[in-house]
Amino acid sequence: MKINHLGIATKGIDEALKFWADALGLENVHIEVVEDQKVRVAMLPLGESRIELLEPTSEDSPISKFLEKRGGGIHHIAVEVEDIEAALAKLKRAGARLIDEEPRIGAEGCLVAFVHPAAANGVLLELVQENKQ
Ligand code: ZN
Repeated sequence: MKINHLGIATKGIDEALKFWADALGLENVHIEVVEDQKVRVAMLPLGESRIELLEPTSEDSPISKFLEKRGGGIHHIAVEVEDIEAALAKLKRAGARLIDEEPRIGAEGCLVAFVHPAAANGVLLELVQENKQ
């Protein structure tokens, strides 16, 4: 396993890129809207991992709620797994509380599933299985 990306909640990606891309020097390789999660996403590679900047696309986006409560910051940690179905089954057997019982389609066509923060010491955990086509 490795950390696929760190998800950071922002009020606006364009503004956030002034720091992460222009000032810090990361390259923004990809922006897309993930309708299912009501977010616009920018991916900035950082070593083996990436920074994922998240911007809400509607008021009922999970990111809108997070911004209201915390004003921004690290939203989730995404762990890359080989087999997301197997990883979910293992967590279920261990009694971990899941947000997604089944994987769904995330950014870049990856399969993703979220694990409830209650299961992971207050950290929202995303499982990612890379889209290898
Ligand atoms: Zn993510």
